Amino acid sequence: MILKQLNQLQSFLETPKNIVIVGHRNPDGDAMGSTLALNHYLKKKGHNPTVVIPNEYPNFLHWLPGSDNTYRFDWQNSQSQRAIKKSDIIFLLDFNALHRVGHDMQNTLEAYENDFVLIDHHQQPDEFTYMFSDTEMCSTCQMIYHFIEKMGDIDLIDSDIATCLYTGIMTDTGSFRFRSTTSLTHRVIANLIDKGAENDRIHSNVYDASSYGRLQLLGQALSNLKVLSAYKTAYITLTDQEKVANNFTKGDTEGIVNYALSIEGVVMAAIFIEDKEQQIIKISFRSKGNFSVNKFARENFNGGGHDNAAGGKSDLNMVETVKKFSDLIIINKEELSNSYEV
Ligand code: 5GP
Ligand code: MN
Repeated sequence: MILKQLNQLQSFLETPKNIVIVGHRNPDGDAMGSTLALNHYLKKKGHNPTVVIPNEYPNFLHWLPGSDNTYRFDWQNSQSQRAIKKSDIIFLLDFNALHRVGHDMQNTLEAYENDFVLIDHHQQPDEFTYMFSDTEMCSTCQMIYHFIEKMGDIDLIDSDIATCLYTGIMTDTGSFRFRSTTSLTHRVIANLIDKGAENDRIHSNVYDASSYGRLQLLGQALSNLKVLSAYKTAYITLTDQEKVANNFTKGDTEGIVNYALSIEGVVMAAIFIEDKEQQIIKISFRSKGNFSVNKFARENFNGGGHDNAAGGKSDLNMVETVKKFSDLIIINKEELSNSYEV
């Protein structure tokens, strides 16, 4: 765990400040939950915070309290730039390095002259003036809970803050099932329910929000699923054409990789998704046990994340990317075989 200058940050925040809160590109439940929760909290403390997210976030998160009161850097560029320019400090949540916000926003943040606060649970965080980094934590949302606790403000957690934090913890832990889910996570969750998070409604809002198109896309993905049993690996491909044919919208591919990981004996799963706009193949990796997909993604696919959940990208086309992946799996056979004993 890295705790850097948090007492100084507490003193800095004793008087009202203009604050910008940033999550990573393609924000997920943890990025949206943590930025919105911190926004609600800082407002209650008398500050003037603004959430700036790099780009679109999934439909199944649109109900989150406060989500309509955010700027999108790609769409509301001048408002976003203005908020950043007049801010006294910027919070960076749920990512470890500035390049994770995407190219344009990265340039703006690199030119920023005041200090950054990083609150994050990803490995290999870059250095910032103020830091709360803990790679053992299941989610940034749990860290925001502990941050509010460190600031002595647990009493300020209301139902909106609790709802946002519950959502991010739930989505980043696969509904409290990944190894990163600890007894402390469950204690935090219990407190959030006491503070007004309606767990049944949150689960339903996030997980019962499928469209017909999303299920059709899932069907396509599952029929593209390949298992390399000798290497305990399974992967899924989705081409742009397949996305278009199934009315793809943002967030539709979220979680599909877990179907590949759910096959008995599989310890590593990947999904390769063609992104025509960016001209890349976006990849999600998941693993069980010791095989670190963070290391695998960092070394081979220009990515990173956590030991058991990571992402990356490839500039090759789909066929070449899958070929590169398959060759790497052969090299990693031994480690994959020893990753996880049932
Ligand atoms: P997902 O597969 O759900 O998009 O991401 C899994 C984890 O890996 C998340 O914690 C996410 O932040 C991280 N991740 C996804 N894509 C990338 C990437 O391109 N680079 C890095 N460094 N991390 C990524
Ligand atoms: Mn996260």
